[in-house]
Amino acid sequence: MAGEPQDDCLFCKIVDGSIPATIVRETGTTIAFRDINPQAPTHVLVIPKAHHRDAAALAAAAPELAADVLRETQAVADEEKLESYRIVFNTGSGAGQTVWHAHAHVLGGRGLDWPPG
Ligand code: 5GP
Ligand code: ZN
Repeated sequence: MAGEPQDDCLFCKIVDGSIPATIVRETGTTIAFRDINPQAPTHVLVIPKAHHRDAAALAAAAPELAADVLRETQAVADEEKLESYRIVFNTGSGAGQTVWHAHAHVLGGRGLDWPPG
């Protein structure tokens, strides 16, 4: 069910602490941790603690929580002293989504090409 922890979800396991992660920020509703396979000098994932399968489902079911995630991407960028950065929500396997728990990638610390690949 939307919002409930899922036994087979990697990021729910990071939320409950059963899988370790390098956590950089935590609020009552979100956590931010370093990506295990960074694509830029700063590559942090911001996730809601509650399980939603992707950004669209999160925004539809819990818009205030979606806003919390977005606010935290800014806080991460500030902490990492990023003047320019990119926030990415890969949505759907064709766009590269591999973990089905909504997450924002915060990427920065190098030049970022546009359009993305
Ligand atoms: P997606 O491809 O779904 O947009 O992003 C999933 C991200 O999760 C990938 O960038 C991947 O490197 C990262 N990731 C996968 N497994 C782990 C893990 O166990 N720990 C951390 N910190 N990141 C992970
Ligand atoms: Zn989950």
